[in-house]
Amino acid sequence: MKIAVYPGSFDPITNGHMDIIKRASRIFDKLIVAVVRNPNKVSMFTVNERMDLIRKAVAGLPNVEIDHFEGLLVDFMRSKNARVIIKGLRAISDFEYEFQMALMNRKLDPNIETLFMMTNYKYSYLSSSVVKEIGRLGGCIGDLVPDEVVLDIQKKLRSLSSGGQDA
Ligand code: ADP
Repeated sequence: MKIAVYPGSFDPITNGHMDIIKRASRIFDKLIVAVVRNPNKVSMFTVNERMDLIRKAVAGLPNVEIDHFEGLLVDFMRSKNARVIIKGLRAISDFEYEFQMALMNRKLDPNIETLFMMTNYKYSYLSSSVVKEIGRLGGCIGDLVPDEVVLDIQKKLRSLSSGGQDA
């Protein structure tokens, strides 16, 4: 069985992520969307909230699983019997960092390959940070995130801007 892992912060999931998930899930028998728990990075949504949002958004894709990990991606990959890392590329600005990560992961485990998928041009401007910023300022995020999670994300952003954790 060909298993791929799509790792990321997904803070929160966007239509750009969904596009990569749909396309990658057609190529592999199983796609594991893996939320990274990074203690050095401040996130707006907890790991559980991020996983719940992804779960709702991918409900129609039977070969997509949701998981999370902390530490080295290659260790997580081995624990899942997966050999392919999926990464999305938006612009040249993504390239340098992703290139370095791909080479480092291959050095850590030569059996693991990173596959890059070009963003759909419709989503090349889209990132989780943009969604958070637009939402926080009261803009419409309806076209930016999957329909199934628009309300959940709006609710969270509203609760933060009305004096929640984000102060
Ligand atoms: P960031 O790196 O901005 O914190 P994530 O970690 O959530 O974002 O991103 C996870 C993966 O999804 C990365 O490989 C990233 O390049 C990719 N990605 C994010 N947004 C898009 C998009 N709009 N189109 C294609 N790929 C994307």
